[in-house]
Amino acid sequence: MALSAPSISQFSAKVATKPTSLAFVITPPLRLSNSSLPPQFLRSVRRSTVSASAAPTAIGVEKESPNAKPPPSLPFRVGHGFDLHRLEPGLPLIIGGVNVPHDRGCEAHSDGDVLLHCVVDAILGALGLPDIGQIFPDSDPEWRGAASSVFMKEAVRLMHEAGYELGNLDATLILQRPKLSPHKEAIRANLCELLGADPSVVNLKAKTHEKVDSLGENRSIAAHTVVLLMRK
Ligand SMILES: [Zn+2]
Repeated sequence: MALSAPSISQFSAKVATKPTSLAFVITPPLRLSNSSLPPQFLRSVRRSTVSASAAPTAIGVEKESPNAKPPPSLPFRVGHGFDLHRLEPGLPLIIGGVNVPHDRGCEAHSDGDVLLHCVVDAILGALGLPDIGQIFPDSDPEWRGAASSVFMKEAVRLMHEAGYELGNLDATLILQRPKLSPHKEAIRANLCELLGADPSVVNLKAKTHEKVDSLGENRSIAAHTVVLLMRK
């Protein structure tokens, strides 16, 4: 989407009222001290981490059971991302950091890169972090027209900081036009570079929407991504 999301204060409120039984603890805890993340995100994550750490359920269980084990350090984490943007005439169409010639492009606060946005969300999702719209809110002028590679680099940095590396990634782009095959390898190569990943673990598929709905009528573009992260 166009990076629209609840405000950070809404998010914070949401975190504070989350059921304490949710598995909100990231293991190991993310260390965000030297982060270049926007301050509002740092506040959110710190607050959510503190909330999770102080969750009565988790701590209560441990108190009730002295022999209770700490949360398992997951060897793998799976994440899913989805994004959709409206297509409007007169705008560039940027997919995976590549300018794809077309008669229209994405309406968005940033450069509207539907693929990079959903890859970022998949990585953040795997890490159990807030989504891209919460980290880079569209209400923040700093991100107006921003290259989405900025968001990707931050997501990859957070992944490494949490002690994970990319296992593999599978992405599907959905658009009626233009044909993506001439640009697919350039997009995939750029994606690999941003991820610091070998091409063998980065897969990119593209399909039409059979001319139905906004996607099939060349009025929007969407993408799905699944990632598997592995503990380093
Ligand atoms: Zn987006």
